[in-house]
Amino acid sequence: MWLSGHSNPDYRTINYFRGKRLKDQIQKLFAEVVRLLHDLNYLSLDVQYINGTKIESAANRYTFVWKGAVEKNKAKLETKIEAVLHEIASQIKQDQSALSKDETPKPIDSGELRTRLAALNENVKDIDKPTWKNIKKLEEDYLVRLEKYENQLEILGERNSYSKTDEDAVFMRLKDDHMQNGQFKPAYNTQISTDNQFITHYSIHQTAGDTTTLEEHLSGFEQQYGKQSKEVIADAGYGSEENYEMMEQKQIDAYVKYNYFHKEQKRAQKQNPFLVQNLYYNESENYFVCPMGQKLTHTGQGERKSRNGFISQVDYYEAKRCEGCPLRGMCHKSTGNKKIEINHKLNEYRAKAREMLTSERGLFHRSKRPIEVEAVFGQLKSNNKFSRFTLRKMDKVNIEFGLMSIGHNLRKLAKKAS
Ligand code: SF4
Repeated sequence: MWLSGHSNPDYRTINYFRGKRLKDQIQKLFAEVVRLLHDLNYLSLDVQYINGTKIESAANRYTFVWKGAVEKNKAKLETKIEAVLHEIASQIKQDQSALSKDETPKPIDSGELRTRLAALNENVKDIDKPTWKNIKKLEEDYLVRLEKYENQLEILGERNSYSKTDEDAVFMRLKDDHMQNGQFKPAYNTQISTDNQFITHYSIHQTAGDTTTLEEHLSGFEQQYGKQSKEVIADAGYGSEENYEMMEQKQIDAYVKYNYFHKEQKRAQKQNPFLVQNLYYNESENYFVCPMGQKLTHTGQGERKSRNGFISQVDYYEAKRCEGCPLRGMCHKSTGNKKIEINHKLNEYRAKAREMLTSERGLFHRSKRPIEVEAVFGQLKSNNKFSRFTLRKMDKVNIEFGLMSIGHNLRKLAKKAS
């Protein structure tokens, strides 16, 4: 109002500007504000404190479509369609050619069903009542439902769920009540990078876990500013083999925790001689030694595939004879000999991460992380009450979050400048 000389744009104008004019511009606008802050020396763009939070979609809560349910219902429907087609075929003996010459039943799609129905309507003369009823059932009920399931699977793509009133939203467990009880709600996973409590980058994702979002998030940062930050600080949710490898390739100093980082620092863990990480490993001859001095020899290799297709190499080791060992009760619960599975590459990355996180710089970043990205989420969600989007669909949610981030940065600038 101050900028426009107190002329009051009505809500439609604001909505039009927000939804249409800002489309494809919001990221650029956001990056310009960040560059301005960089030029004013408020931030460096050399470091990213990264974390994510799930923000509820504007969609209605009970509008879920689950991939498992759709696939199950579709399979049941296909069986029914096959049965009805078979019945029709036996009813119209003289016109079986109009159906299918292929005797082996196979899943039928809506296109194929349409073709078969068209052939039936065209070729079969003097249809009797039961056959006519079956054709109508196929046309008016089964075909419609089959098309609906196909459409739902197309919308789902790689996702496991979506909401009928915001097809881009995914059902995620949100811990948003005071007891931190989880509830499945349609939501988006928003990832942010902060530097000196300013948001320097954001990205919106359709997966509940943070692990798989990191590469896209970091690539977005690089595209936006034409360079990658030197350091990345993130919690254990990002500490996967593929993420460590990707950051190594991008020459980023990764202060990224992994599962059990805190647990393994505890004395009880460090002193437990039966834990895999505490067994002696002879690298040159590739065997482990158990607390009884027995060798766990290499028995083979295998592969593990992550959710987004990353393949990890694992090695298997087995003790020769655990029978009669007095330490067995403390060592393992399996009926045979002790078997372990090792991902050597991941262990190397973890060792490097441990070194980074316990270095002087690592301790500095670890102490700063809660007042960086966590504090920014606190301001957005608690202070500004931004816990639910008001717009629907990915492009609009992106605009809304971009505006929130610009608002946050300008508020922070005003505070720091005063
Ligand atoms: S149970 Fe087997 S692996 Fe465990 S300490 Fe005894 S001999 Fe070694």
